[in-house]
Amino acid sequence: MSKFIIVSNRLPIKIEKEQNQWIFSPTSGGLATGLKSVHENGKSLWIGWPGISSDDIEKEEYQLLSKDLLATNFKPISLSNEEIDDFYLGLSNKCIWPLFHYFKQHFQFDEQQWESYVKVNQKFADAILEEIEAGDQVWIHDYQLLLVPEMVKSVRKDVTIGFFLHIPFPSFEIFRIFPKREELLKGMLGSDLIGFHTYDYQRHFLSSVRRILHLNVNFNLIQQTDREIEVNTFPMGIDYEKFENTAQAHTKSKKETYSPLRIELEKHKELNHGKIILSIDRLDYTKGVINRVKSFELFLKQYPEYKEKVRLLMVLVPSRSNVSHYKKLKRETDEIIGRVNGNFATVNWTPIWYYYRSFDFDDLIDLYRLSDIAMVTPLRDGMNLVAKEYLATRINNDGVLILSELAGASKELHQSLIVNPFDITALSNTIHEALNMPYEEQVERNIELRERVKRYNVTFWSETFLKELDTLSKKIPIHKTKRVTPQIISKFEEQYSKANKRLFLLDYDGTLVPFNKNHKKALPTQTVLNVLSDLNQDPKNKVIIISGRPPEFLDQIFKDLTLTMIAEHGHFEKEPNTEWIEKNASSSNWMNHVYPILQQFTDNTPGTFIEKKRNSLVWHYRKTDPELGLIKSEELKTVLASMLSNDISLMDGDKIIEVTTSTTNKGIASYDHFSKEPYDFVFVAGDDVTDENMFTQLPLEVISIKVGNKKSAAKHSVSAPQELVEVLKQFKR
Ligand code: UDP
Repeated sequence: MSKFIIVSNRLPIKIEKEQNQWIFSPTSGGLATGLKSVHENGKSLWIGWPGISSDDIEKEEYQLLSKDLLATNFKPISLSNEEIDDFYLGLSNKCIWPLFHYFKQHFQFDEQQWESYVKVNQKFADAILEEIEAGDQVWIHDYQLLLVPEMVKSVRKDVTIGFFLHIPFPSFEIFRIFPKREELLKGMLGSDLIGFHTYDYQRHFLSSVRRILHLNVNFNLIQQTDREIEVNTFPMGIDYEKFENTAQAHTKSKKETYSPLRIELEKHKELNHGKIILSIDRLDYTKGVINRVKSFELFLKQYPEYKEKVRLLMVLVPSRSNVSHYKKLKRETDEIIGRVNGNFATVNWTPIWYYYRSFDFDDLIDLYRLSDIAMVTPLRDGMNLVAKEYLATRINNDGVLILSELAGASKELHQSLIVNPFDITALSNTIHEALNMPYEEQVERNIELRERVKRYNVTFWSETFLKELDTLSKKIPIHKTKRVTPQIISKFEEQYSKANKRLFLLDYDGTLVPFNKNHKKALPTQTVLNVLSDLNQDPKNKVIIISGRPPEFLDQIFKDLTLTMIAEHGHFEKEPNTEWIEKNASSSNWMNHVYPILQQFTDNTPGTFIEKKRNSLVWHYRKTDPELGLIKSEELKTVLASMLSNDISLMDGDKIIEVTTSTTNKGIASYDHFSKEPYDFVFVAGDDVTDENMFTQLPLEVISIKVGNKKSAAKHSVSAPQELVEVLKQFKR
């Protein structure tokens, strides 16, 4: 039975030492809750750091702890103080975290910390590789482990890997700043499925993949040389039932059981001390704490009638307090809260109640339940679960949620009061709107909001991701084209040596020679020329270059070889030592109409250009911005399709649109040669859509090879021109 491996930076357990003994208890974070059933029910293993530095524990003690953890399916990764500093606090939290949250000013890249990040990611990958067996599935989490998917995939292609990013993925213009941007993307692309909270993060990621790695992206599928990667949106939810049920239980509980916090909150209500605006965050610069206090200050200035009638209850949970930006933020927060309280407090009223600590679950429920408004206004947040938790506890459907448009949750919670957290005036006005929202409107909004949070809970999140991962693990390769292996090459050689009359039909660009942004520079290496020359010298062989290029180009490239050449997709042909002949000549009047249209597209799409051949016009868009190129090519196809007659056809090639007379094509031209002689060995290779005509029009017995990884009618495939040349080299006299 295959197993399931969950990998996260931290194990979902708390480890403490009591009376000289390590004891561990489960934590209840979102991830732990979402994957609880998978981890408990199935055959599964959770790999992560247990939260203690290996420098703080004796080796023997660590081994004992590991053994205990393994007994409950947790596998610990040991990290030293130095690794915690460099990999975790350094590269992860001083570099990736601020950049991915658009805090470029806090971003610090350090080469040594990067090395540690690579090393620790490798440690995680090795731990996975130690445990993994064929058919297993792995789910890797978050920004600390971006390199792990590829480190695992490069060794084990037979396992299915999922990756989920819990923080935002920034736009390309921000992401490109990261010095090791290619490494991060390639690391993530070791996955089969990559998940984000929102569609925006997904499209930012795909845009970076296109622009930095120049890979083809088809909707949400990334084409790698030997496989496809799916990218999708899976907004994370909460354990709704737990929050709702606890809120319900608290409303019914007896006074004697009240916590000190609850006693205080209930007293506040009884004495009619005004409405409570709740704010709960880790103290992090992404959470917009300063702006929130500033907006409350402005609100008190703008609406003095609210004096003694409203209170901001701020819970700030200490976080990463040994990172300097966090220390500074703590000082600034203390200062600004002090200033507001100093300026506005009365004998009976402190406008801001401030707690710098965390609360246990029961207190958290009371805070949510007994507040009138929740103000969740981060400057950037991957999702934000506090917003969803607040809604889940509103069992009477009252209360108002103010939500930042820069939190992932805003993409789902449309009925909340959505606000730009950088706009202090708008925030202040929204506080006023929230305080004055009629009860009926609160209920109307919250019914819909709560339904959504209930349905799309954390179990839904993990189940949909895992279902998709499972589907991918069972997916049969999209087409039946088989990769060429050494065994297959031996078979080709056997057929070759037995044959008396052999035909080679070889495309040029992308088949014998890799693409170049400047198509004039796509030239064959000496090896390619030698291989072709050797093949051509055997009297049993006929080697034909069949290309879309014009005759002059092929003449120049192959001037030293006596090959048969077919140019412009079959419009021109040349046998060795003869002149070019034009086949199926037709009128080229159509060009006068098409050229101005291509010119217009070239004018407003920088980097594109037109190639004029005798029988066709080609619009090249390889050098333009990949997204713009794709949009413009679609537009061009629509414009041209409506104006072309039957004898003119449109070919959608690799980053080109070719308009050509349709009296011939590579299929017709190659069949023509094939039927001239009784060949007993036929070898056809091509990479582009125009070459598919050869694969489909020649009989099934021929050896057909697709170069690249796109879907094809060819029977076999190789990944790149170099590999094809290696195959050709094997055919010897
Ligand atoms: N939380 C907590 N104790 C507290 C305050 C908050 O356990 O005293 C929890 C809260 O219930 C929520 C999480 O911390 O589940 C914060 O998650 P969120 O997505 O809002 O922000 P993050 O801290 O992950 O950036």
